[in-house]
Amino acid sequence: MKYFLIFGPPGAGKGTQSTLIARRYNFRHISTGELLRNEIAVKSDIGKIAAVLIEKGEFVPDELVIGIVRKEICNPGGGEKGYILDGFPRNTYQAIALDKMLEETGYKVDAVLSLETTDSVNIKRIQHRANIEGRKDDADFETIRNRIKTYHKVTEPLVNYYKKQSKYMAVDGDQSIEENFVDICKIIDKKLDE
Ligand code: ADP
Repeated sequence: MKYFLIFGPPGAGKGTQSTLIARRYNFRHISTGELLRNEIAVKSDIGKIAAVLIEKGEFVPDELVIGIVRKEICNPGGGEKGYILDGFPRNTYQAIALDKMLEETGYKVDAVLSLETTDSVNIKRIQHRANIEGRKDDADFETIRNRIKTYHKVTEPLVNYYKKQSKYMAVDGDQSIEENFVDICKIIDKKLDE
């Protein structure tokens, strides 16, 4: 089983690329944002906590998110050849928790596929998505700014975390969806050949 992370700021296109990757390689796509939005939709206890935080552009507590990911990773859906984790980990604490979780099952993170984008492009993509998906956290400019600020402060340090492990693989995320996907596939193909 291979484990790939898709990494990048809000609006970089992680969800879009993950969907394409999952389809081409028969990987299971695990998006913590998506899982949390499902919890909100069914009004679970986790969903009630998550709703308030997500709307403000703040993180959901680490232990809740780690618990959700653990449940998914420990319950393979059947037939998949690997995982693409999207939106997790988002800070060093979560990255260490993921490493431990995978170690318990005898696996590791194989590569981090990073969409390197510029903030102006991210903001444009989020504003475009707001009209299509109607997500509350995409609707307000202050919330978008807060999410991007948090990314730089709390999530971006993970670049070094994964560079130190020689797992960080960057693509120029400002390119088109198709161009990004071509670059990402080259990285995945190489990893699968190893
Ligand atoms: P984006 O990448 O555009 O921020 P996501 O769907 O990945 O969109 O995440 C939406 C929101 O869900 C985040 O702003 C955050 O509030 C919450 N969330 C998702 N993943 C995590 C995580 N790993 N840790 C904490 N909160 C998370």
